[in-house]
Amino acid sequence: MTILPVIPTNPDTPDAVGTRRRSAMPPRHLADLDLAGRRAAVTELGEPAFRAKQISTHYFGRLVRDVDAMTDLPAASRARLVDDLLPTLLTPVREMACDDGATRKTLWKLHDGAMVESVLMGYPDRITACVSSQAGCGMACPFCATGQAGLTRNLSVAEIVDQVVYLAGVAASGAVTGSPPRLSRVVFMGMGEPLANYPRVLAAVRRLTAPAPEGLGLAQRHITVSTVGLVPAMRRLIAEELQVTLALSLHAPDDDLRDELVPVNQRWKVAEVLGAAFDYAAQTGRRISIEYALIRDVNDQPWRADLLGRLLHGKLAHVNLIPLNPTPGSKWDASPKPVEREFVARLRAAGVATTVRDTRGREIDGACGQLAASELTEAGAGGPAAEAEVAQ
Ligand code: SAH
Repeated sequence: MTILPVIPTNPDTPDAVGTRRRSAMPPRHLADLDLAGRRAAVTELGEPAFRAKQISTHYFGRLVRDVDAMTDLPAASRARLVDDLLPTLLTPVREMACDDGATRKTLWKLHDGAMVESVLMGYPDRITACVSSQAGCGMACPFCATGQAGLTRNLSVAEIVDQVVYLAGVAASGAVTGSPPRLSRVVFMGMGEPLANYPRVLAAVRRLTAPAPEGLGLAQRHITVSTVGLVPAMRRLIAEELQVTLALSLHAPDDDLRDELVPVNQRWKVAEVLGAAFDYAAQTGRRISIEYALIRDVNDQPWRADLLGRLLHGKLAHVNLIPLNPTPGSKWDASPKPVEREFVARLRAAGVATTVRDTRGREIDGACGQLAASELTEAGAGGPAAEAEVAQ
């Protein structure tokens, strides 16, 4: 593991931090607005409307987040624009790399002291950003570190987008060894339940996929939204007619066990949640991804593989098995490899496409379900204790 130097950013302007309550939403940022909204905002500031496009080109087109680097803006305009449209939303507290520099985790402090994390993963053909949609999470899945701390608050649209723009900048700098210098994929698999922060996540998706300079110009199909299965929100997503990839965190094919592993199952059962996922696949023509963390002696029995195989047979679905990443204090562990192989074989025998996810970022607690920065908030984030906890 390599601990990377933290890149200093401008401190928040006093107004931006101000006297806001803890857990309040952050100040407005240009990424909260579409291009028309940005035009209206700059005009209100007494700036010419073309400034909206100018700063958007810096931010989304060139990945410049620091207004002082926008040297074509007159100094007086810069100050006004920082205050109104480019407040610092994310301050990196810690950056860590592992997997020979191919995986990098950033721990961020938000304007109100809440903490979130993002992970950048480089592969030979692509770079993927794993981003947070909430500080903490209210879904309480017992095997997930984020779920243990509860929900602090929703992230704003710009807090989500700014994670991606920052990571795209890291990618563009060539810092991800062995990968092309372009961030091309985003997965909402960091902290939080994206569909519990629906309007903001949707706006963030629109911003990430709008062509530059309105947005980052990513392909919709290269964005994955992962959910525990909030059925009404899944139905709402179907109605948006987007091409984003849907991942469903199933983790058990039967209600008895899923009620425990994914507590929201007590509200929306396996049949209902799979029904909504299949409808999403039918509407988009895109395969859904069924996430299944394999937990030793909990959900890894051959009969559960067979049951899952029957549920998914003939459907536009793919199973992504995740070897459980044990979290501190957890009684659970990953399944042994022979058990995992048997599980895969049974699913494939049922005609279900199945892959086992690599365990990127484990060493820096950046793997699936290990993001737990919100726990550090109370303990004094960024201090030596917090660092030890993050870096362990
Ligand atoms: N709230 C969303 C996104 C969060 S995490 C969701 O639940 O889908 C992305 C994936 O990591 C989910 O499938 C989640 O269940 C899984 N995960 C959580 N904790 C894990 C752990 N300890 N080991 C392996 N996967 C885990």
